[in-house]
Amino acid sequence: MQLPREVVVGDKTLELVEDICEKLGFSESALVITGPNTYRIAGKRAADLLDDAGIHVDHLIVASSTVWDVRAVEKRIEELKPQVVLGIGGGTKIDVAKLSSARQRVPFISVPTTASHDGIASPFASIKGLSKPYSIMAQSPMAIIADTSIIIQASHRLVTSGCGDVVAKFTSVNDWKLAHKVENAYYGDYAASLALMSARLVVRNAEIIKPGVEEGVRVLLEALISCGVAMSIAGSSRPCSGSEHLFSHALDVVAPRPAMHGEQCGVGAIMMAYLQGLDWKQTKATLQRVGVPTTAEELGIESEFIIEALVRAQSIRPKQYTILKEKELNHESAESLARVTGVIE
Ligand SMILES: [Zn+2]
Repeated sequence: MQLPREVVVGDKTLELVEDICEKLGFSESALVITGPNTYRIAGKRAADLLDDAGIHVDHLIVASSTVWDVRAVEKRIEELKPQVVLGIGGGTKIDVAKLSSARQRVPFISVPTTASHDGIASPFASIKGLSKPYSIMAQSPMAIIADTSIIIQASHRLVTSGCGDVVAKFTSVNDWKLAHKVENAYYGDYAASLALMSARLVVRNAEIIKPGVEEGVRVLLEALISCGVAMSIAGSSRPCSGSEHLFSHALDVVAPRPAMHGEQCGVGAIMMAYLQGLDWKQTKATLQRVGVPTTAEELGIESEFIIEALVRAQSIRPKQYTILKEKELNHESAESLARVTGVIE
C-alpha cells in the first residue's frame, strides 16, 4: 500500500512547495511537468520557488496526455535524473507526470490546478493511445499540494464535474460489493467506507459548492483526495470506478463529442443506481443541486449514443463484475432505463 506522505489543501499552499520538497528529502533537483496555460498559472511560480531555494529545477511543457507525451517525459527523466517529478496542471498533465515518473522509478508530487476528477490523488493514470480506454496503474503521489486560490479561478464546470466523479462512488462501491458477493472478488470495507464517506461529504455540502466559494472547493478537494487514497488502499480502482465509469468510458468511445469525465460518470450513476435499486432520485437531486448535468441534453450528447454506451459499457472491461453483467442491457432495455431516469426524453 503506497500512500501520500504530505497532503496540503488550502489558500496559497503552492508557496509551500519548497518546504514540502525539502521535508521529503528532495533538496537537489526536480523536474516540473506542466501545460502551456498551467505553466503561467502555477508551474512557473513553483519552479521559481524551488529555484530560489537552490534546488536545480527543469521544466517540460506538455500539451496533451498521449503515450508519446509519456515517452517524451520519460526521456527527459532519463537525461536529467531528477530526485522528484512534479505534475502541475489539470488532470492530463498530472497523468503524464504520474505515469512517466512511475516507469522511471522516480517519486511524484501532484499539484492540481483543477478539481475535476479523483486522478489528482489516485495511483492511476488515464493516457490516450493505450490499448485500453480506462486508467492504468502508475504510482501514488508522494505529496499533494492543492492550492484553492488557484483552483477556484478555473472554470466552475471543472468543479461540478469533480462532484459528479465523487457522487458516482455510491454506485461504484455497490458494484464492488456485488462483485464480492457473486464472484468472491476481494472487497475491502475500509477503502469502500472511505469512498462512500467522500460521496456523502459532497451530498452534505452541495449547498456551498458554488462559483467563487473557497470552502466548497476545499470540501470537494478533500473528497477527491480521499477517493485517491481509497484506491491506494484497495490497490485497485474498484472502490471508485464501477458500472457508471464503464458507461463514461463507453461514451468516450462512441460519442463524437464526449462531455467531461465526471459529468458522464454522474449521469451514469443515476442510471446505475436505478439498476442497483439504490435511491437514484437522491443521486439525481444532488447532482442537480451542485449543477452537474443529469440529462443527455445537458451533456450535449445525442440520445442514441447514450443508449449505445449503455449497451457497450460492460464490454469495456468484461472481467469486472458490475450490475451491467447481471442486467445484460440490450438496445430496448437500455433505452427504457435512460427514459425512466429522465436522462433521455
Ligand atoms: Zn472517475
